[in-house]
Amino acid sequence: MSKESILLVEDERDILEVVRYNLTREGYAIREAETGEDALLMAAAEPPDLVLLDLMLPKINGLEVCRRLKAAPATASVPVVMVTAKGEESDIVTGLEMGADDYITKPFSPRVLLARVRAVLRRKQQTVPSEDDSITIKNLVIHPGRHEVLVDDAPVTLTNTEFKVLHYLARRPGWVFTRYQIVDAVHGQDYSVTDRSVDGQIVGLRRKLGDAGGLIETVRGVGYRFRE
Ligand code: CA
Repeated sequence: MSKESILLVEDERDILEVVRYNLTREGYAIREAETGEDALLMAAAEPPDLVLLDLMLPKINGLEVCRRLKAAPATASVPVVMVTAKGEESDIVTGLEMGADDYITKPFSPRVLLARVRAVLRRKQQTVPSEDDSITIKNLVIHPGRHEVLVDDAPVTLTNTEFKVLHYLARRPGWVFTRYQIVDAVHGQDYSVTDRSVDGQIVGLRRKLGDAGGLIETVRGVGYRFRE
């Protein structure tokens, strides 16, 4: 099996070196770009398996690089992990809505970095269950066809919107979704969902799901994710 390739996009040399050292040691093939322009050229010439993208770059910033990667057919399916500083939640939200797959906040430990990279590469291999497939995660079972949710084999009564929110998140464990992405996904016939009311749906879901409610994780300032 050939090595999985990662394109590191980072203009700070010391961070670049630490990240390169740790990822190389894990067996990943690393390429590096110090500017957004170089990153786009390199990714287009030979799409990597993953892009680790610092958002604070000179000239073309990371969000713009992400937008262009996701807009180009050759690189649209390449996972992007954004590297952000603390307090950049609004950039994280923007990036996720542009199609970035995950993010990591500086300063990060090598252990956290590797876990994040592995998780994103693993999720890339997994297929999302189809709309009709039943989903079982720990003590929670979702039967989309029957519109039924069981916790410890006992049925749980959810509203239509709560069901859709749960199903949307549970089909993609580990992925972070912004409120807007959740609203967009569950919109359908229910036009009363606004991005703030997503919080209300989550509160209702957690209460009704009991201990399985802990599977829905709040990602502060960003949105929600279903635990892997
Ligand atoms: Ca930077």
